[in-house]
Amino acid sequence: MTLAHELEDARARALAAIDAAAGALRELSMSIHEHPEIAYEEHHAHAVITEFLERRGFAVTRGAFGLPTAFRAVAGHGAPTLAVLCEYDALPGIGHACGHNLIAAAGVATGLALEAVLGEGNGTVVVLGTPAEERGGGKVDLINAGAFEGIDAAMMLHPSGGRLIRAGQVRVPAKPNAIQSLRVEFFGRNAHAAGAPWDGVNALDAIIQAFNNVAMLRQQMRPQARVHGIITEGGRAPNIIPDHTAAYFYVREENLARLEELKPRVLACFEGAAQATACRLEHRWDGNAYSDMQNASALVDAYARHAQSLGLEPSELQQVGGGSTDMGNVSYAVPAIHPSFGLDSPDAGNHTPGFTAAAATEEAHAETLRAAKALALTALDAYANEAVLADAKREFEERRLAAAAAGD
Ligand SMILES: [Zn+2]
Ligand SMILES: [Zn+2]
Repeated sequence: MTLAHELEDARARALAAIDAAAGALRELSMSIHEHPEIAYEEHHAHAVITEFLERRGFAVTRGAFGLPTAFRAVAGHGAPTLAVLCEYDALPGIGHACGHNLIAAAGVATGLALEAVLGEGNGTVVVLGTPAEERGGGKVDLINAGAFEGIDAAMMLHPSGGRLIRAGQVRVPAKPNAIQSLRVEFFGRNAHAAGAPWDGVNALDAIIQAFNNVAMLRQQMRPQARVHGIITEGGRAPNIIPDHTAAYFYVREENLARLEELKPRVLACFEGAAQATACRLEHRWDGNAYSDMQNASALVDAYARHAQSLGLEPSELQQVGGGSTDMGNVSYAVPAIHPSFGLDSPDAGNHTPGFTAAAATEEAHAETLRAAKALALTALDAYANEAVLADAKREFEERRLAAAAAGD
């Protein structure tokens, strides 16, 4: 019996598998939430998720693809092969303020649902543990290490809060921006700030001037571009003219090509500040650049349909600009989707302590499982109906050829 012939029955069994594991998935999610770990240091999350999947029959590779906190967990047999991605890194100081504990639970839930129905020869599911989404770009490391070779499509979910979305809503397709981070340092000369300020070369003035230059650049940027930063070193005492300061900036644009156009304009803000203050500038474009997200339309359509069948509505306000994700890079490697689902957290969007609290509620867990059910049904369509993946691959190839032609 193939999946196509018993699709209704397979759908019911997939959803039942998620319901049956709801309590265990809640424990897994809370264990990750209670042990927040930042990028590339997610050892607890890696241990508990891999143990969970191994106990439920997945063939697990720990520390996969040369990354100590990545994993690959496989169930089913034969083609096609779909990847369901988990993230589990937290933010410095404010814990799971992006709800990646819920992403891990959603990925595992989807994996369990598919494992329950794939059986012999209907296809393979790879639950892929992807470290370091918040900083660094673990998925780019995984792409470079070959983790997506032999994968027909990749999918994951992300929780969202704030006023643009609420519980019971999904945003699909989401349009995250391309991003790269910039580290800068200014070097000046110390002097007594009252006794002999004319002997100093003020590295703090350089940073403040650079912030003002960026503020002026913002008026001339495209609507989806974002530039924002913090001062990581601003001097040692008010009576010492600072001889060394440092800042950390994120530069975001609609796609990688636009990002490459914006980067020199942002850097010029720092170079101009260095010249005006007689400081020396050092800079470094940091980590992996994140691509924008290319959503696979066939999978987006399937997700939207199944979300609706489970009572989820599209959020009326579509996100413009906003965040970025290394899932964007995956979407340039294989057909991919990255739907967001809402949590009731109107006063606390992602990356705030209020969202950390929202990501630990029973309600958030219920929304996570509902969104995961829609993802499992989407994957089932792809396993049961060859046309779904064929459409996704055709669109992927068309985009690739169009991008190559534009680059010539
Ligand atoms: Zn996130
Ligand atoms: Zn985040």
